[in-house]
Amino acid sequence: MSTAAVPEGSTNRRGQETVFLNFSHLSPGVVSALFTQGLLDNLRTGVIFLDTHGRITAWNFCLEQMTGIGNSVIGKKFTPSLLQMRDLHGAKIEDAQCPFSKWLGAREPITDRFHIVGRSGRESQVELNFHPVITADSQLIGAVVLIVDTSVQIELQRQLDDLYAIAVLDPLTQVANRAEFERILDEYVRTHQAVGLKCSIIIADLDFFKQINDNFGHHVGDLALVSFAQLIKQFVRSHDFIARYGGEEFVILCANCDESATLQRAEEIRESLAQTKQTVLNGKSLTASFGVSELMPGDDATSLFVRADHALLKAKELGRNRVVTASAMASNQLGVQLETPLPSATSVPWRQLQRPPMISEEYAAKTPLILLLQKIRGFMEETKAEILRIEEKSMTFRISQADPKRPSRPISFILDVDLETADKVPKSRERFKNTEVFLRIAIDQVRSRWSKEVHTELALRLHKSFLSYTMLLDPTNHIQPVEPATKAQSRY
Ligand code: GH3
Ligand code: MG
Ligand code: MG
Repeated sequence: MSTAAVPEGSTNRRGQETVFLNFSHLSPGVVSALFTQGLLDNLRTGVIFLDTHGRITAWNFCLEQMTGIGNSVIGKKFTPSLLQMRDLHGAKIEDAQCPFSKWLGAREPITDRFHIVGRSGRESQVELNFHPVITADSQLIGAVVLIVDTSVQIELQRQLDDLYAIAVLDPLTQVANRAEFERILDEYVRTHQAVGLKCSIIIADLDFFKQINDNFGHHVGDLALVSFAQLIKQFVRSHDFIARYGGEEFVILCANCDESATLQRAEEIRESLAQTKQTVLNGKSLTASFGVSELMPGDDATSLFVRADHALLKAKELGRNRVVTASAMASNQLGVQLETPLPSATSVPWRQLQRPPMISEEYAAKTPLILLLQKIRGFMEETKAEILRIEEKSMTFRISQADPKRPSRPISFILDVDLETADKVPKSRERFKNTEVFLRIAIDQVRSRWSKEVHTELALRLHKSFLSYTMLLDPTNHIQPVEPATKAQSRY
């Protein structure tokens, strides 16, 4: 049997090793021997032997099982209608279009996939491996067709795909879930670092989403989340990555994008969302806040993400429905975005407001200027104040105060401090004989379109704590208010 079937190895699409039979050098004697000895009947693959006219010369037991058609077909010409063959799009293969007739002249194996109707009327997908049979003296004497039912494999693959989708997709919005995001972010940062390509991240969080649930119900909230995910999908390219990070928060990884291109992308999404009337919200629209950061040398996944997250928090703090970039935060370019105008270096902030500040007072202190400045610095460190403006004797800070009713939502205040040494005080103030420094403070709440509630209590608490920290409340300091607060706006 030296010319008999030679097992050959190959690798299939899933990378698994398969073994198939090479029939190209079988003599007719060997072919019939394979059948008479029942060898091919033991195979779990359908086998048909065809002569050069396309007539069936053998039909194995497995095929009989698969199709319900016995060896009564032997001697007949093979036709697609015998197996009710259809292509993968479901189109019927006409007998005149019999693939075997077309392939019979071939000298190389051919593989194709079809649907056939099996014994129970069940349609299955099969792979046909068509092997021309060529004798040792190069004569084509027919073909062997192996028919493999791939339906089971396809079903298995479908189940695997389903399992994969369950593992990586958020079931509500059908974008990637947080676990998948974390996996991809790591990979993404490493590959972009390795090749030195730019890439950026956007974190988006819907504004006041809790109110959507409260006002319209959780189900409508869910629909709004789906709608936001779909809107984001319209703005990303195929090689970008979207995930639902949790709740009403989404992340977008923008490949090959620097911060300014990513900022533009986030702006487009923000604007489009704000302009989209949501049917489920009775025509109202949603807004979202966005934080953006670009991958920097030395970054890892965490540092890239944390910068964007801080930028997002800043976008919330500044009034929501806006995009903040990590670099704008770092260079403190954000004051201008406040709805309550922030002080410029040369201006006195409350003069720019349409209304007077919540608290505005002037004090005469016997404490030397240098000591007072040290005390103010200590207070700023203690309250984690953000410096918005600082000059020699004049400064503006932003300080967050926890709202006891909603501890997760701190309220921001602006504290403005002006110091004037007593030697520059006009004559009218000479009654403050031992005064070292005149000090003026103003406190106002950062209010925006979204946070209109006035927190007087918190402003007063901040005021009191500033005075006690800087010892201005200490009786030995002989401090006295210069004028009642309401009149304090005329300067010296
Ligand atoms: P902010 O502008 O500060 O982000 O305010 P917010 O109300 O959006 O934020 P907060 O964190 O207070 O509330 C988020 C809400 O999102 C609370 C939660 O009920 C809701 N939420 C989280 N996941 C889901 C969800 O899967 N479906 C629905 N309908 N709501 C969700
Ligand atoms: Mg939110
Ligand atoms: Mg959130």
